[in-house]
Amino acid sequence: MKKHNFYAGPAILPEFTINNVIEAVRDFAGTGLSIMEISHRSKEFTAVMEQAQSLFRKLLDIPEGYHVLFLGGGASTQFTVAPMNLMQRKSAYLNTGAWASKAIKEAKLYGEVEVVASSEDKNFSYIPKGYKIPEDADYFHITTNNTIYGTEIKEDIDSPVPLVADMSSDILSRPVDVSKYVLIYGGAQKNLAPAGVTFVIVREDVPGKVDRKIPTIFNYRTHIDKGSMFNTPPVLPVYAALQTLIWIRDNGGVEGMQKRNHEKSSLLYEEIERNKLFKPTITNEDDRSVMNVCWVMNEEYAELEKPFLEYATGKGMIGIKGHRSVGGFRASLYNALPLESVKALIGVMQEYESKA
Ligand SMILES: *Cc1c(COP(=O)(O)O)cnc(C)c1O
Repeated sequence: MKKHNFYAGPAILPEFTINNVIEAVRDFAGTGLSIMEISHRSKEFTAVMEQAQSLFRKLLDIPEGYHVLFLGGGASTQFTVAPMNLMQRKSAYLNTGAWASKAIKEAKLYGEVEVVASSEDKNFSYIPKGYKIPEDADYFHITTNNTIYGTEIKEDIDSPVPLVADMSSDILSRPVDVSKYVLIYGGAQKNLAPAGVTFVIVREDVPGKVDRKIPTIFNYRTHIDKGSMFNTPPVLPVYAALQTLIWIRDNGGVEGMQKRNHEKSSLLYEEIERNKLFKPTITNEDDRSVMNVCWVMNEEYAELEKPFLEYATGKGMIGIKGHRSVGGFRASLYNALPLESVKALIGVMQEYESKA
């Protein structure tokens, strides 16, 4: 039976990526060796790193004066590294979920943190609006897509102070006006590559503005100067990222991704609204994530939650159990998820409705 992969992360990747990684693990670029067993300084791998950086740049139309880095450590490491490099005295954060909260916790180690607004009062089921960003903050940090709760900031906001974004789970899902940010980072395992590589888009003038001593490995300057080759980069995930970037390029670029993602999420939200068994957890349509669609049973059908999950899983719908802090269901519709999988899920929801 065909499996439809709705996992939130690590998550579905294009078949193109998986097939090319398999090939490179066997025989990389005609070297007769596996990509896992050759030097990261070989000309073959150096070319991979350079191509991945330049294609990332091209797809997101990243302006001059920004660097693209591929580092280890995951987004969670950037929760610490960003304030270490950017916060002299004070920073501002928008608290839209568990990941944002973790970023706030780390920032507090380096200075004063003003949480400008939080949606924690309603279990992060909306994006706060009408908040004021303090002009004396060294930067303002947002999480553009809240993977666990299914909310998303889908536009590039204006900020009076340098803007920093965790884009772990919506990078390359839409065009981004990179010039509005000084730093964008994320783990690759939601929409780009297997876990192990972290993308960082950093403006040239970001490093060097704080007084504290920064360990070499955590200083953005180090990685900018060495082109992400200061130490051994996560070679295999970087290779996989390059394959995904090529796939995105060949499938309409980020505009093409946005169009497809919108089509997928609209269909699913429509079905959740229509189906008598279900309701969405995010009521404000503007705040709904295009990447992670969350829903629960309507009260009168609450006892069918587990049976529906089992039924759907039995029909090949994998990874639709909601995060434990939200309950219900979550379907992640990352770039690589085909429209066909969303249609299959909707089919299963309708079948189950007709039995209930
Ligand atoms: C998954 C996720 C993270 C954590 O990423 P790691 O690479 O595991 O550290 C951080 N932020 C967001 C928005 C995420 O979805």
